[in-house]
Amino acid sequence: AKQEGRNRFSFFSHDLESSIRERHQLETCLRNAISHDELFVHYQPKINLATNEIVGAEALVRLVDSEGVFISPNEFIPLAEESGLIIRLGNQVLYKACAEAKSWLDKGCNIPISVNVAVAQFADPHFANIIEKALHDYQLPAELLELEITETALMIDAAEMQTRLYQLKSLGIKIAIDDFGTGYSSLAYLKKFNVDVMKIDMSFIKDMLNNKHDYEIVKTIISLGQSMGLSLIAEGVETEEQRQALLELDCLMGQGYLFSRPLSANDFNAFILQHKVN
Ligand code: C2E
Ligand code: CA
Ligand code: CA
Ligand code: CA
Repeated sequence: AKQEGRNRFSFFSHDLESSIRERHQLETCLRNAISHDELFVHYQPKINLATNEIVGAEALVRLVDSEGVFISPNEFIPLAEESGLIIRLGNQVLYKACAEAKSWLDKGCNIPISVNVAVAQFADPHFANIIEKALHDYQLPAELLELEITETALMIDAAEMQTRLYQLKSLGIKIAIDDFGTGYSSLAYLKKFNVDVMKIDMSFIKDMLNNKHDYEIVKTIISLGQSMGLSLIAEGVETEEQRQALLELDCLMGQGYLFSRPLSANDFNAFILQHKVN
């Protein structure tokens, strides 16, 4: 038994060692991509569920490793947050997204672009200045930029975050609450913060047609959003049945594999050509 215990210990320590090494490799890869401006941004269309028209696009960052394999943001965003790289990463995504939306506009397509914002970016007192400068540098009208923040971001320091929201809204941009229903949301916060859009988390959409509770949650979020005058968008719409059900509940916008996966800038341009905008 003693022998076994020792083996088990060495097995675990070996495991720990390799996970530390992998983490270090990932951080190096991320740091290099940021330094050499080699991050990619993909764009996922947001769709009017009744007409199939494009009503927006979400910018989603992509990292490619040395062998050309895509690494999931779910793996490197947390690492970027812990290592402080998230500010530079976030800025690069913001600039690329603004440049892309401006190029759509120059082709006559008014497609609002949504950019994900990490807590550390939103907490930065200079954040509104960064946004203002990006709009100016890329000549993007403020109403074409939307920032997606999570409920958690609003909870860290309510007074400070209220100031930040006010600064951002004064620029004329839109604010969406991402992953709605999964964070520490409270109705009091929703009332206090003047946001524009609620994104219903895909975990509720996934089972809304085979789980009565999820269906009721979706229904409740929609009526809450409506009563507060917010736009609603469902994430992770994968089936025609979900599209129908959401429309019946009066949710008019959706995003998900039913319509399109996130696309490279080139593929998104091809998507625009095949679909009506607005
Ligand atoms: P998110 O903001 O909730 O983005 C939606 C995620 O769901 C994306 O994953 C998207 O590809 C995926 N998705 C879209 N439609 C469907 C669908 O129909 N079914 C399923 N199963 N998934 C769908 P992705 O691109 O891997 O991003 C994961 C998360 O990483 C994002 O979740 C967001 O939290 C974070 N992230 C991505 N890009 C950025 C960024 O530029 N900055 C920050 N701070 N976070 C980012
Ligand atoms: Ca998002
Ligand atoms: Ca989301
Ligand atoms: Ca999410």
